[in-house]
This record gives sequence, C-alpha cells and structure tokens, in this order.
Amino acid sequence: MTAVHNFNAGPSILPKTVFEQASQAILNFNDTGLSILEIGHRTSLFQEVMDEARTLVKELMLLDEDHEVLFLHGGASTQFMQVPMNLLDDKETAAYTDTGVWSTKAIKEARLFGKVDIVCSSKESNFDFIPKDFAVPNDSKYLHITTNNTIYGTQWQKIPKTSNSLVADMSSDVLSRVIDYNSFDLIYAGAQKNMGAAGVNLVVVNKHILGKVKRNIPTILDYRNHIQEGSMLNTPPVFAVYVCMLTLRWLKAQGGVTAIEKLNHEKAALLYAAIDESPLFTGTANKDDRSKMNVCFVMKDGSMEERFLQFVKEHGLVGIKGHRLVGGFRASLYNALPISSVAVLTELINDFSQQHA
Ligand SMILES: *Cc1c(COP(=O)(O)O)cnc(C)c1O
Repeated sequence: MTAVHNFNAGPSILPKTVFEQASQAILNFNDTGLSILEIGHRTSLFQEVMDEARTLVKELMLLDEDHEVLFLHGGASTQFMQVPMNLLDDKETAAYTDTGVWSTKAIKEARLFGKVDIVCSSKESNFDFIPKDFAVPNDSKYLHITTNNTIYGTQWQKIPKTSNSLVADMSSDVLSRVIDYNSFDLIYAGAQKNMGAAGVNLVVVNKHILGKVKRNIPTILDYRNHIQEGSMLNTPPVFAVYVCMLTLRWLKAQGGVTAIEKLNHEKAALLYAAIDESPLFTGTANKDDRSKMNVCFVMKDGSMEERFLQFVKEHGLVGIKGHRLVGGFRASLYNALPISSVAVLTELINDFSQQHA
C-alpha cells in the first residue's frame, strides 16, 4: 500500500501514536483488563483522564485562574445556541462578525435569544477576506469571531482588540498558534479538527461572565453547572475525551503551542509558495488573511481540476477536494499533519505544473 497523506478537513488526521494508544485502551485500559468503554465515568480511572485533559488545556493555553475548561457534548454547532443562551438577554445585543458559513450559522442561533448586530461581513466576495475596519458598539454584550474559516481558508491574523467580551469559535485552529487565550471570555471548539475525536466540544470560559442573564437555562445547558461538577455533570463522552487527552499529551511532548505554531507556519509557507509559483494554480483567499490550517486554491483553467484530483489520488493524497461552496481544492494542514505530507503535495503541484504548462 502506498503511504496515505491525509488532508481531510474534519474529522481529520491525528497523531499515529494517539491512534495506537486509543486502540490499546479499548482492549485493555491502563492494564486493568477492562476497556475504557466499559468503566464508570466516576471511577478514579476516568476521573484522572478528565482531570489531565483539563489541566493540559490550561497549561497549553497558559490560562489564568478565571478561565475554566470544560469538555461538553455536541459539536461546535451546539455552542452556536449555548453561548447566547448563557450570555445574551433578549433585549440585549451581541456583535457578530460574518466571515463564512459557520459564522452565519452562529448568527442564526443567536437571534433566537437576543438581538444581533452584524458589525462586518465578507459575504459579498464569497468570504475571501477578513474585514479590518469595523466598529463594535460599547453596549454590545460580546463580540463573536470565527478565528479560522475552515471552508474559505481565511484566518484572523490579529485578534481584534475590543473593550467588549470576546467570544470565539476556534474549531479549526484551536491550539495551532500562540495567541493570548486569556483575552477571550469564551472559546469553543469541536474537537474533531485539531484536537481529537468527534463527539466532544472544548469550552474555555471566564467564569465571571456567567450568571448575568435573566432567563431560566436548562440544567444541562448552563455552563455554571458544568463548572460546579468539574465537567462531569452527566456522563461525558468518555472515549472522545480520552482521545483529546492523548492528543494534548502529544502536543505538549512536541514542545507545546509555540513549537507547533512554528511547524504550522513552515507547512503553510511551503504550500502557498508552490501555489503562487505555479502558472496553473491560484489561491482563493486574500493573501493577508490566508489560513495556516486550511489552504484553498483553484486552477485558472477549471476544466483541468478533475485531472489534478486524479493525479494526487494516485499518489496517496486524501481529502484535497475543496468544499462545494468554494470549489477547487482545500488542503487542511492541522497540527498532526507532518511536513513531509505537505512536501509531497507541493512536489505534485510542481510536477503537474511542469507537465501541463
Ligand atoms: C466544523 C466547524 C463547525 C461545526 O462543527 P460541528 O462539530 O460539526 O458542529 C463550526 N465551526 C467551525 C469553524 C468549523 O470548522
């Protein structure tokens, strides 16, 4: 079998050692003779997993005492409604930036709970850039951004400075770069792109912003209850949390976020350079806003795209086809993707360009 290079957008590549350890834990968890799938979540065995996962997030993000780490059920889409339910009263307004499909979905859910002020949008140009000039009214309850736009390949290079509370969907670039994670009052991320297995959400929340809305929040949706119970209000998605814990351990062993950011930077630079140098290909996102996680590109002659897809497939590349809303190609370069896979893709771009120039 030829080596597989996995550029899937999500669920996506995780470190091979994580797959090995996770498989082992299904058969015999920590030499207990039991599978991780058949032990109580309130046993000390699992409690240690949850505690370590939460501690690793705190360490890797350098979080202060105000920030709590939760692993909650559901995908990022659940957070689209849970965030405004906990933070926004029905007469209040929240500011949202509209930078792609996921932002648009977050806006739709927020409107169920309060008023939404769309302070900027790149919709007119199919979300190919990150808006720079916009104002956030002082009385906005919070400002919501999607730090990386998975489908369009754009990323906020600078986190906007605001006096408002900052809330971010970081599903596709969480723990991929050094930013001031404490400057956010709430961060959420579906785990399946850069952190672990599908089925769990990471939520990092400044506990001081909670408990301010007047509505009654269902028990299971109130962040305060999850904090109170140490992220064990009910049965957590144990296996998904375990895979996150293993991935976080791996990240720490790589040298943490600083080291992975450097590597992510090199990977993206290598691929963008190949795209820019080729006469056949062109990137779709505004250069200043290019994502280091999802690289979107097309062929100037769209009729050749099928041939290139076939060509990379023959060389073991998986997950390169672009999202239907953008077309062309998308290569996702998440933390676990080795630079050697990126080198294979850039070589194929070069070869194909030479053959067809
Ligand atoms: C994938 C993705 C989502 C949706 O995640 P689910 O876990 O499927 O709900 C939301 N936001 C961003 C930025 C994403 O990349």
